[in-house]
Amino acid sequence: MTADQLVRSSRELFDLELGRDVQRAYSLYAEQLLAWNERVNLTAITDPETIVTRHFLDSLSVKMAVTFTTGMRVVDVGTGAGFPGLPLRLVFPQIELTLLEATAKKTAFLQHLVQLLGLTNVRILTARAEDAGQDPATREKFDLALARAVAPLPVLAEYLLPLCRVGGRCVALKGEHAAAEVQSAQDALRILGGRLARIISVELPQVVETHHLVVIEKIAATPPQYPRRPGIPSKRPL
Ligand code: SAM
Repeated sequence: MTADQLVRSSRELFDLELGRDVQRAYSLYAEQLLAWNERVNLTAITDPETIVTRHFLDSLSVKMAVTFTTGMRVVDVGTGAGFPGLPLRLVFPQIELTLLEATAKKTAFLQHLVQLLGLTNVRILTARAEDAGQDPATREKFDLALARAVAPLPVLAEYLLPLCRVGGRCVALKGEHAAAEVQSAQDALRILGGRLARIISVELPQVVETHHLVVIEKIAATPPQYPRRPGIPSKRPL
């Protein structure tokens, strides 16, 4: 898949028109990702065509679940090399994006990239989700909390819901077994103030398996004891 196909698929799948500047930003992103990947473990995907489908288009699929409005406060938890938050920020410059990632080597890449692309309204936090969820500066401060490939849903709910304001939403980018994950996360959602809104199927070009967007509404404040200490949510999921 080429840059042309990124433009065409964005239009056909998500009704997004990528301008020249945005196309240039994506190719710079892919180039830097591969260059840094030589020394920092950022991605297992090293084929440029697959970067387009599995990183860029997959990230943009969040558009199927969300209307991005001006000033919307978005956090991407366990963002790694910036997915899905950064590709979304490239096409929705009006959002206020926080990229949250525990590994300093990865946030060093993000700092470099954000500077290179000259992006404003992007904050990079080197932190664990469990700590950010208890920090008054970030707890319940976001309209939208996103994550892809970070943890099973019962654990992820404890990372995402404490960051989200009541009335806001969480979107988890999941693979084929999203419905089963939602089933196993029922207790976690109830305890943390969440409720399943819907599950959206996503078919991407040249990707065999169906992806799913799990959309969770935050309907009540998260009790103060959550998230628990770093490591506890994954050790003892709710
Ligand atoms: N979201 C990116 C993507 O889809 O390409 C990265 C996925 S990578 C498999 C998972 C990332 O989540 C890692 O970079 C890891 O450091 C980060 N992570 C895992 N648990 C975390 C936590 N509790 N708080 C912050 N980051 C976390």
